[in-house]
Amino acid sequence: MQRTIAEKISCTGIGLHSGEPVQLTLHPARADAGIVFARTDLHEPVDVPALHSAVTSTRLATTLGAGDATIGTVEHLLAALVGLGIDNVRVEVDGPEIPVMDGSAASFVFLIRAAGVFEQDVPRRSLRIRRPIEVRDGDRAIRVEPAHDLRVSYSVDFAHPAIGRQQLRGLAIDGELFEQEICRARTFGFLREVEVLWRNGLARGGNLDNTVVLDDFRVLNRDGLRWPDEFVRHKVLDLLGDLALLGMPVEGHIVVERGGHALHQRFVRTLLEHPEHWTSEPKLPASTRRPARARRAATARATA
Ligand SMILES: [Zn+2]
Repeated sequence: MQRTIAEKISCTGIGLHSGEPVQLTLHPARADAGIVFARTDLHEPVDVPALHSAVTSTRLATTLGAGDATIGTVEHLLAALVGLGIDNVRVEVDGPEIPVMDGSAASFVFLIRAAGVFEQDVPRRSLRIRRPIEVRDGDRAIRVEPAHDLRVSYSVDFAHPAIGRQQLRGLAIDGELFEQEICRARTFGFLREVEVLWRNGLARGGNLDNTVVLDDFRVLNRDGLRWPDEFVRHKVLDLLGDLALLGMPVEGHIVVERGGHALHQRFVRTLLEHPEHWTSEPKLPASTRRPARARRAATARATA
């Protein structure tokens, strides 16, 4: 069945690009409402649906917009929502971007868990892949094949001594796997690129508390990585957030070679333009496992 959050909940953080404080509030929403963003700092409140049709930029992060209202860096919050199986929620934010928190989706998972999950009385609709489809851009590619649930294989290949080739195969994405293996993976950037962003007035809120930063040889964060392959795990997190813009969960095995936000959205658009490759029908989900109390405490510690 479709799910929303049990009650409204807020948090405050800084915007990655502006460096300014932003308040984020999640509200429960009715069945079939989907995920909708709203800017509360504008004269005319504008709703921005979390759909591919609202994407205005995929540079550095995924940005949505409607009219004059834009909302940046939506992908980590979206990943947390879909990772925990939330279909309907209203996301209010009083600035142009979602707060970066620690650069991962862990704080959003904590927030959703604190609000609680409410199961609604309308079946969920999912996008079930019937025939393979592929998008390619040089040596980057995304392919999806039929499967009974959402599976993700992802590989990255960076000519950098701290990253190299990292690969995750056949991850069966459910709430438990998302919370344990994916949601804490942080965004990363290279010092020489970050310096260019700073010179251009971007990434002002970016620092070692919310980004894994690498110079030419190593990771600069004093506490190092959360996993040796944190980079590819974060790519999976980004993919899940970007897939949320399909407006419904996917049933298929998605295989990504060197993806990024732009290619993820090209894949989403290609899928939507080729409905002969999938069907969409209401379906009762398989078991939606709830986390154990111990794991909830571990997530709380990780985000404290
Ligand atoms: Zn990311």
